[in-house]
Amino acid sequence: MINQIFVEREIENHHRVKSILKSFPSSTPIYIDKYGELFNKKKQNFRVQKSFPNLILASKNGKHILQVPKSFGIGSSYNFYFSHMYNCLYDCDYCFLQGMYSSADFVLFVNYDKFENEIRQKMEELKGESVTFFSGYDCDSLAFEKISGFVEHFLPVFEELPNALLELRTKSIQLQPLVSKSPIENCVIAYSLMPHIIAKQIDRKAPSIEKRINVMEKLSKKGWQIGLRFDPLIFGKDWKAMYSNLFSDIFQSVPKKSIHSFTFGPLRFPKEMFKSLIKLNPESKLLSGPLTLRGTKMTYKAEVEFEMINFCTDLIKSYAPEALAFNCSGDF
Ligand code: SF4
Repeated sequence: MINQIFVEREIENHHRVKSILKSFPSSTPIYIDKYGELFNKKKQNFRVQKSFPNLILASKNGKHILQVPKSFGIGSSYNFYFSHMYNCLYDCDYCFLQGMYSSADFVLFVNYDKFENEIRQKMEELKGESVTFFSGYDCDSLAFEKISGFVEHFLPVFEELPNALLELRTKSIQLQPLVSKSPIENCVIAYSLMPHIIAKQIDRKAPSIEKRINVMEKLSKKGWQIGLRFDPLIFGKDWKAMYSNLFSDIFQSVPKKSIHSFTFGPLRFPKEMFKSLIKLNPESKLLSGPLTLRGTKMTYKAEVEFEMINFCTDLIKSYAPEALAFNCSGDF
């Protein structure tokens, strides 16, 4: 899965670097000055790298937590995101990371303490306010857990910050460390979902929807709160029947009381990013589908988008309270 490991010299003695290297005993790391030397190089081939990605262990400098757009949230007064990792094990057709980065290598920022300090500071500044921290913007929050130990580190941090909510956004069926810990109230495990048949075609390398639902069921039985993320909503023949079946499958397995929130988001790409995605995925049926330029975005026609969001919102209301629905259609 990992081609070559690179390590920034400045963190070669970091305890997390040492323990990650131990799990790759046959790999000899190459030491570099800054991750950007490799990661930001021009004229890299994202698609070729995706088959043989390198792992770059780095230290994140500058700001560690960032504000999300105003239209983005799941019920808290303030919303931020943080990225301990760039890139993802999976390879979804619509993934904007392919259009955003020139490299498909995994960058893992091992200095979790810096993220943690900024989160604690922010909670101090916003004393008494509810704040959500989204962790799965530049990666999948759980898929790399066996290597990163990200969730293992951050659950105890959030346990000490009851007004802060951590969203782990994932398509992974990774159960550890969640099943071996008692659930905490201020963490939501948010699963990205779409009809089975569509996911098979465009959520490349990601676990099937059946497996994701199965894991949601296990975690809800354990007492974890589950988020349902239908972002992007995908249009196609029989989409109404497909989404109806998907919701029915989910709610047969996951009890209503375990649902923290659900969100819908339209399929949308910034114009320039869309051009890069088409170049990288010329065969993609999704990208060559009925998309149109609206303002600065490539997206479905307004009436299609409106119909899909309304249909799905009405449908899910028959399973879960409307108060759990949030708008997360903003772009970062
Ligand atoms: S799971 Fe998310 S981050 Fe990973 S490839 Fe798919 S869309 Fe991108």
